[in-house]
Amino acid sequence: MEKKDLDWASLGFGYVQTEQRYVSNFKDGKWDEGGLTTDANVVLNECAGVLQYAQTCFEGLKAYTTEDGRIVTFRPDLNAERMYNTAMRLEMPPFPKDKFVEAVKAVVKANAAYVPPYGSGATLYLRPYMFGSNPVIGVKPATEYQFRIFCTPVGPYFKGGAKPLTLCVSDFDRAAPHGTGNIKAGLNYAMSLHPIVEAHKAGYAENMYLDAATRTKVEETGGANFLFVTKDGKVVTPKSDSILPSITRRSLMIVAREYLGLEAEEREIHFDEVKDFAECGLCGTAAVISPVGKIVDHGKEICFPSGMDEMGPITKKLYETLTGIQMGRINPPEGWIVEID
Ligand SMILES: *Cc1c(COP(=O)(O)O)cnc(C)c1O
Repeated sequence: MEKKDLDWASLGFGYVQTEQRYVSNFKDGKWDEGGLTTDANVVLNECAGVLQYAQTCFEGLKAYTTEDGRIVTFRPDLNAERMYNTAMRLEMPPFPKDKFVEAVKAVVKANAAYVPPYGSGATLYLRPYMFGSNPVIGVKPATEYQFRIFCTPVGPYFKGGAKPLTLCVSDFDRAAPHGTGNIKAGLNYAMSLHPIVEAHKAGYAENMYLDAATRTKVEETGGANFLFVTKDGKVVTPKSDSILPSITRRSLMIVAREYLGLEAEEREIHFDEVKDFAECGLCGTAAVISPVGKIVDHGKEICFPSGMDEMGPITKKLYETLTGIQMGRINPPEGWIVEID
């Protein structure tokens, strides 16, 4: 198959329109057959539920070309399950999990020419999403929905090496206890835009959000989970009901235990402890792990011993092992790699 003539290495994280996307409609209480289309536009009634009351959710995952030239995706069954749980919380009809995985495969296969070649550092980003599509003016769930998956090639996340980030402790809250912090709802991102714009203006890459109830415990950033390494080499990650369960973070905890022989623990992490950690990283599909060098809490700086020049040594091993699994250089755990035939 002939690849598109794109400058893979200089692609950013932006939308590049590809040829085919998947669409399925929910109407009269059931999902239709669904299928691929070349039409990239969505036409909606002015009163559509998504436009009035933000009834929408999404997922994000990637397709990769492996060292031996196969096209694969990473744990799409977990995206299917998470979107199922999100839909339940938002009173949307969940999209069947097996059909989700089949739709992911169909979209990747139909756009194989856009899957960046091995070694380019670029990947194919897939965006499944769902929204209420029929007119809703009284506050209630829509009765018709559309589920779609499009894909777009994205460039290497770390151009010229992974430079550690500087974060600030936010005065805003990301998620309330018993709220929607643990689901991938569009609304969680809408409300994070003001805090992130403010953080960027002040020179920070991301916000560290603390728990809304007590402002003493670490939650996550706007779009990535935290992972810390203690001075005695243990991997720890915050446990909270209002954190989005990152597939990358859950996978890294398994990599730490099973591949690197490290202790890995999910527990409540008090902000007071953060100054004692050796390394800090942010986990998510986009970057796998972005190293954090510094966290600023209202003028008070916490500087990690790993410094501002490179990833900490354990963060680096975690990063290299997981990307090695995704790129087919390291034997994966059962079921992690799903090949597109
Ligand atoms: C999507 C997301 C993540 C990362 O999850 P992955 O499954 O690893 O991509 C982390 N935090 C939030 C708030 C998210 O929306």
